[in-house]
Amino acid sequence: MQEPYDALFKNISDRLERLVPLNAHNADKNIHEEMAKSGFERRDFIKWAGAMTATFALPASFTPLMAKAVEVANRLPVIWLHMAECTGCSESLLRSEDPSIDSVIFDYINLEYHETIMVASGHQADLSLEQAIEKHKGNYVLMVEGGIPKGTEYFLTMGAQARTGAQECIHAAEHAKAIFAIGTCSSFGGVQAAYPNPSNAQSLDKIISQPIVNVPGCPPSEKNIVGNIIYFIMFGTLPRLDAYNRPTWAYGHRVHDLCERRGHFDAGEFVQHFGDENAKNGFCLYKVGCKGPYTFNNCSKLRFNSHTSWPIQAGHGCIGCSEPNFWDTMSPFEEPISNRLIVPVTTAFGGAGADRVADTVGVVALSASAIGIAAHALISGLAKDKDA
Ligand code: SF4
Ligand code: SF4
Repeated sequence: MQEPYDALFKNISDRLERLVPLNAHNADKNIHEEMAKSGFERRDFIKWAGAMTATFALPASFTPLMAKAVEVANRLPVIWLHMAECTGCSESLLRSEDPSIDSVIFDYINLEYHETIMVASGHQADLSLEQAIEKHKGNYVLMVEGGIPKGTEYFLTMGAQARTGAQECIHAAEHAKAIFAIGTCSSFGGVQAAYPNPSNAQSLDKIISQPIVNVPGCPPSEKNIVGNIIYFIMFGTLPRLDAYNRPTWAYGHRVHDLCERRGHFDAGEFVQHFGDENAKNGFCLYKVGCKGPYTFNNCSKLRFNSHTSWPIQAGHGCIGCSEPNFWDTMSPFEEPISNRLIVPVTTAFGGAGADRVADTVGVVALSASAIGIAAHALISGLAKDKDA
């Protein structure tokens, strides 16, 4: 192992050893048996651990620690709240048919409270939440899915005690060890906050004052949800974040940077209309609305459904779902942003004109470098690395 990593390796090992004796959720289960029941062999799991180790930019020698972190994941209590949303973020993980390794891991964590899958309702559900908070005070991870109406009791009044969503979040956040906004709605408002936002839906950071890690996406990939849990188990801290409080290990690069159609973009080979000859040839989808050049996410690298495919491989452009205000700024989804007379200033690029260059200048190699330069200049200006 390289010397600079020795101390980190020891710190993580010691931390995981300290977690082993803690009360385990489903103590009779172990992750390897759960994997086997779902048809995964040990080597599939180790392959997953190796890929996740690389995603965290750690040397391959950390793979056993990654596997160990998953083995003790049932020691980490998680409270998951639902606000105004479609439950798509939960569905991203809870697919019961054909589960992925990530969803098996999600099943294995100590999910103390999650309204979609728990049996309790009414007063009993309220009691479950209170008991979970009390039992794990100061030690649980809070995950919030959905936008939160602010300053109104007319939308999203919840549970037998008729608390508003905002009250529920404030209450559950008070004793949380770490807080994650899961999905674009809780990270940035999402579709609930799209114009004219009749319920005054807001992101979680407009409701509570504690530090939050945003895990946006509509829905976020299962890897980005589970990865954040495992990161927290391994390091005991929040990850390094970008200007929008997204973990840089997952949202540090644009979809465009690792897209398999990027060569066609650079060569000026674009699909002009869905179904045309260029579409059949797998050309770049920029002119039919792809927002990959404006969108920070790891979809082009990690893909979906056990790495089998992702939207651009399937033939539709990225709609920019992990960016702030994506519903208002990225739509219409099948037109380039440059088709608009006024470019909204709320994309990560502030309407810096990178897309206009790509769409109107014939020399596309120039476009590509213009976008790259705009991206790096803006992002390095915005970046405010944080270690919690
Ligand atoms: S514009 Fe979209 S399809 Fe084209 S290379 Fe970039 S991310 Fe891929
Ligand atoms: S490809 Fe784009 S729209 Fe699709 S999930 Fe990734 S960031 Fe969201």
